[in-house]
Parts: sequence; structure tokens; C-alpha cells
Amino acid sequence: MLPKITVDDNKCNDPLSCRKCLLACPMHALGLGTKVGPKKFQEIPPEQFRVAGVRLERCTVCRDCVRVCPSGAIQVVYDGGAGK
Ligand code: SF4
Ligand code: SF4
Repeated sequence: MLPKITVDDNKCNDPLSCRKCLLACPMHALGLGTKVGPKKFQEIPPEQFRVAGVRLERCTVCRDCVRVCPSGAIQVVYDGGAGK
């Protein structure tokens, strides 16, 4: 079973500037996407960007991303068994 990564968009409102969780993740399990789909980068307002778990199979549930997040926006939950 894969971990579940949730990001509260109300608390994480400028991930493009922050990116702390993305930089902290040793497994590169997180990604930065947009709510509006593909467009030219400069046409997308910053608040339309969002962080999400994009490679969940890589996530080791170390929760480094949770620790570095300044706003408590990201949560990592794993309930698929022992060891993680
Ligand atoms: S829990 Fe660890 S491996 Fe998983 S997304 Fe966060 S930093 Fe990456
Ligand atoms: S560290 Fe927190 S506030 Fe910063 S981009 Fe990641 S989820 Fe958003």
C-alpha cells in the first residue's frame, strides 16, 4: 500500500517560492504542478501552483517534508502495515 500525501492549499499558497518540502525530500517523491493544466509558465499566477505526491512508490514516510514545512500544510500518512 502506498502512503497518502496531502497538501492543504490554504496553508501552502505560494509553493513556487517556498519549495522547502520539494528540496527536502530525499526520494524526489513530491512534484510541483498547477491547477490549471499546461500553459506557458509566465501566464500562471503563483497561487495556481500546488505541491503533490507524484511518485508515491518512492516515499519512505521519513516525513522530512512535514518537518521543514513552515505552515504545517503537508501531511504524510501510511497505514499499510508495519515498518514505515
Ligand atoms: S515523507 Fe520523506 S520520502 Fe515521503 S515525500 Fe516526504 S520527504 Fe519525501
Ligand atoms: S514546504 Fe509546505 S508551504 Fe512550502 S511548498 Fe511545501 S507544502 Fe507548501
